[in-house]
Amino acid sequence: MPPIEKPDLNKPVFNVFPEARECIIHNRCPCCKKVVNNGTILLKDVPRSELSSPFKDALSKKEYSISGLCQNCQDELFG
Ligand SMILES: [Zn+2]
Repeated sequence: MPPIEKPDLNKPVFNVFPEARECIIHNRCPCCKKVVNNGTILLKDVPRSELSSPFKDALSKKEYSISGLCQNCQDELFG
């Protein structure tokens, strides 16, 4: 799987929420703090309980590249 583009960390929202920026830098969802499988992590290094669900489709990946949210949190937010 090719890596999914991360959100632009220079966006003003990340100045307001520096913690969210840290999460994204470390491949974690800023909402639930689980590890996001964005194609840059080694799955064998991540305990299953720490890993968020894989992205369902291109739309979910695009949303990740905007907000940094994992699939689980996108499901909660957008139903
Ligand atoms: Zn999440």
